[in-house]
Amino acid sequence: MALNPLVDSRDVRFVLYEMMDVIQLCKLPKYSAFDKDMFEDMINLAETMAVEQIYPTFAEGDKEGCHYDGATKKVTIPKCYHPALDAFYEAGFGGMDIDEEWGGMGIPQVIAWACNEYFCSANYPLLMYPGLTHGAAELVEAFGTEEQKHMYLANMYSGKWGGTMCLTEPDAGSDVGALKTKAVRQSDGTYKISGQKIFISSGDNDYYENMIHPVLARIEGDPSGTKGISIFIVPKYRVKADGSLGEFNDVNCAGIEHKMGIKGSATCTLSFGDNNNCIGWLLGEERKGMKIMFKMMNYARMGVGLQAHSTSSAAYMNAATYSKNRVQGAHVTQMLNPEAKGVTIINHPDVKRMLMWMKSYVEGERAMIYYLYLNYELAQLLDGDAAKEAQGLVEIITPIEKAGCSDMSVLITSEAMQCYGGYGFVADYPVEQMMRNAKITAIYEGTNGIQSMDLAMRKILMNPEQYNYTILKKRITDTINKAKGIVEDKYIALVERGVQELDKVIEMMKQQMAAGQFLHLFANATPLQQAMYMLLIAWMHLWSLTITLPKMKELVGDKKGEERAALLKDNADAAFYSGKVLSSQFYLGAEFPKYFGKIEALLGGESAVIKASEEIFTGMLNE
Ligand SMILES: Cc1cc2nc3c(=O)[nH]c(=O)nc-3n(C[C@H](O)[C@H](O)[C@H](O)COP(=O)(O)OP(=O)(O)OC[C@H]3O[C@@H](n4cnc5c(N)ncnc54)[C@H](O)[C@@H]3O)c2cc1C
Repeated sequence: MALNPLVDSRDVRFVLYEMMDVIQLCKLPKYSAFDKDMFEDMINLAETMAVEQIYPTFAEGDKEGCHYDGATKKVTIPKCYHPALDAFYEAGFGGMDIDEEWGGMGIPQVIAWACNEYFCSANYPLLMYPGLTHGAAELVEAFGTEEQKHMYLANMYSGKWGGTMCLTEPDAGSDVGALKTKAVRQSDGTYKISGQKIFISSGDNDYYENMIHPVLARIEGDPSGTKGISIFIVPKYRVKADGSLGEFNDVNCAGIEHKMGIKGSATCTLSFGDNNNCIGWLLGEERKGMKIMFKMMNYARMGVGLQAHSTSSAAYMNAATYSKNRVQGAHVTQMLNPEAKGVTIINHPDVKRMLMWMKSYVEGERAMIYYLYLNYELAQLLDGDAAKEAQGLVEIITPIEKAGCSDMSVLITSEAMQCYGGYGFVADYPVEQMMRNAKITAIYEGTNGIQSMDLAMRKILMNPEQYNYTILKKRITDTINKAKGIVEDKYIALVERGVQELDKVIEMMKQQMAAGQFLHLFANATPLQQAMYMLLIAWMHLWSLTITLPKMKELVGDKKGEERAALLKDNADAAFYSGKVLSSQFYLGAEFPKYFGKIEALLGGESAVIKASEEIFTGMLNE
């Protein structure tokens, strides 16, 4: 296989096997039939398919985009997506982490998401089709009746039918409770659905034979707000008792959006019940719609963090490859020599700095994301306190992962473009598309502002006795203790101080909450989230150093200068561990100190935002 230009495969293995020790999962009854070779087979297959079949659709799918035919009300997606999706499903990736009962392979989540990192880095807009389908099917699996499961699951996991999530309406975006889509009870136990949903990813397309929409709606007479919301399964074509397709269910696509990025992903306006003939089947209980949809949303939020990270990884890897090939300017040590030959730009300290900055975030994020997925799995597999701790970690890390990785993806793709100079800005190279694709990850699946409020309020301050935060701190402290005697004191001290300073912020916020100072709390939610993202990345690097430093010492010893350089050229492991050590040292020593500025700003209690009234933002224009 060609060298993977999108993901550092060696680092994926490092995180899976050396940091997270995922082989331990095989000791649990659910995974006793698996071993490392089987995990490797899956990951290798995913990587080959991502590079050879999915990445070639990246630029082509963006150029072709999606098309809407107003006469037939049908959507076509890029032609090149079809064979790539066929290959994805034929290899069984549509249900890789799903029970065999529904046609899945039953591999652990963390392995499935390592595979997904390859797929998403190759073309995440394409992966949105199976991704949303998987999420919708999981909802049916978790909350559906036996009849519903048998009616939908196998066809969804195998890629015959697709799925969506239908929340957003023109006046109900972040405020889902404002939705107007209506459900009316029928005498046969079904519901008539009417209303419009906008921005629905994969809403209509020419790949799947049928679309299964989980739709949030309010049953006539139910209370306003989120408490009165129910959720319904609304297929595009009704399904007959024998599983074959029945009549059209009055779900029409009224148009698609023209977007700055993810152009291969169809973003649709869906109209339900234009002819009063749209039937929905209740999923779970009436008025439990938000609770049920939250399962899909939390899972999708983790997935959006991965989309963002994968985009960052692909942008960084492309920039590194480009920088190793582009010759421009003399080496800084030769700048006074007019005869000096040009060097590849990776030799310029500023370019090296940009690459190191990207590398350190991409590697820190990868560890954080796999840790999140591992805990997501452990929360379901373990019992008692161990399961409770894993669940607490998932709750607190999810909004940080979603918001942190997506905000950072915008910055990393921008920095990757910077490495290319003018060539990055033109469409001949993939980074401009990566930059365009990155932004939406900060917006959909709950904007990052909403994620930050969720973190500050529900996940920390309103969480009884701040259990989630306490567990997180306990785990960081475990790493700090483990690092002592292995990692240099100055790096350990930074993370230790980082936790102490965050404690002060949380204490301040608790007092603000007790005093009813909600304006301060909400104004500081995003700065808190951004600081916690930096702390989590620092934690991952400290953890990584506990493994990479001894390895580097073993492989490189005390070799220096040319002797060391020669070894790193010949010995891939020595180069890898040395690179990991430098990346962690760079993050902790040169990047993480910025965290303390964020903390200082939070503790400073600046109230300019609170005092600002609407008028000040438009000034003279108002007159
Ligand atoms: C390409 C694309 C794909 C999408 N896919 C789907 C999909 O498959 N299914 C689906 O249901 N939806 C989907 N969406 C919708 C998406 O989830 C919403 O756009 C998003 O939740 C924000 O809603 P909004 O656009 O109405 O913005 P608004 O809610 O109007 O928000 C505007 C700004 O105000 C802020 N804001 C709003 N309320 C508050 C508050 N209470 N406190 C603080 N700040 C606030 C927001 O953070 C944001 O910065 C998609 C959108 C796009 C663009």
